Amino acid sequence: MCANDCRIGIGEKGFCGLVYNVEGRLVRMGGTPEKGILEWYYDSLPTNCVAWWFCPGCTGVGYPKHAYKPTAETGYSNLAVFYGACSYDCLFCQNWHYRTLASTLQPSMTAESLAQKADKHVSCICYFGGDPSTQMSHAIKTSQIALKKAEEQKRILRICWETNGYEKEEFALRAAELSLRSGGNLKFDLKAWNENLTLALCGVSNKPTLKTFNMLGERFYNERPELPILNASTLLVPGYIDAEETAKIASFIAEIDPGIPYTLLAFCPQYVMDDLPTTSREQADRCYHAAKKHLENVRIGNVNMLS
Ligand code: SF4
Ligand code: SF4
Repeated sequence: MCANDCRIGIGEKGFCGLVYNVEGRLVRMGGTPEKGILEWYYDSLPTNCVAWWFCPGCTGVGYPKHAYKPTAETGYSNLAVFYGACSYDCLFCQNWHYRTLASTLQPSMTAESLAQKADKHVSCICYFGGDPSTQMSHAIKTSQIALKKAEEQKRILRICWETNGYEKEEFALRAAELSLRSGGNLKFDLKAWNENLTLALCGVSNKPTLKTFNMLGERFYNERPELPILNASTLLVPGYIDAEETAKIASFIAEIDPGIPYTLLAFCPQYVMDDLPTTSREQADRCYHAAKKHLENVRIGNVNMLS
């Protein structure tokens, strides 16, 4: 399902931990419409979503077609779907408790039951985790059911994704179509520009992610530039992700469109990189100015965490 393209030996399992080779037969234990390995919760709007500064739910952009209010949608919620598996293995993982879900394969839920949680007070669904890339069949089915019901009831329901971008092209295209139709967006976490650095920090190459980002940008960005369907973020890991990295990522994004929003995120010591400091204000400012040379819309997120 994802760019890891695992080749799984008899008795072994794939990188994400969801697919097993049982006596020569591949068995998927999660990520099908019948069984998503996930946790979910309602997150009141406006949220601290990476895309909050250009999102209809937090700003009113796109009102009245894609937002209930011309300002933040107070009184409404985001249905946050935390998938319990990932296609990357980041040393700095900020959500590393997804590993408990991947190793126990629970809790689980069908796409049908998850879609029912998108009731009338829900104005957006956001898939994150872990990462949705290893459970796209479940996420797409959930979106289709929930969106069909919302459209019948003539109400707004945006479909959004926060991903490392490792979904296979056919799944990425279907995700983008759902977001375009519903007023949602795809948030791609571009971890690093240098491939070796990505391999060292995340355990996988960044090439498939960059290729998919480029493909989606060229295909979809100009269809709805006033409400960006695609945007990117980068975690500013101290000592690793510097101004040179963010400048190169920004230059790559600008080649698609200089209007694509780019959010720089402060690092918090987590997982096996719990001995690093948080991102300094100096590092964040250097990265910001380097990215600003290429892009019109750059923002430093979670500034309260800068040291
Ligand atoms: S979803 Fe990706 S990581 Fe999981 S088994 Fe398939 S190719 Fe491997
Ligand atoms: S892509 Fe995200 S969830 Fe997956 S390992 Fe990396 S930081 Fe963690």
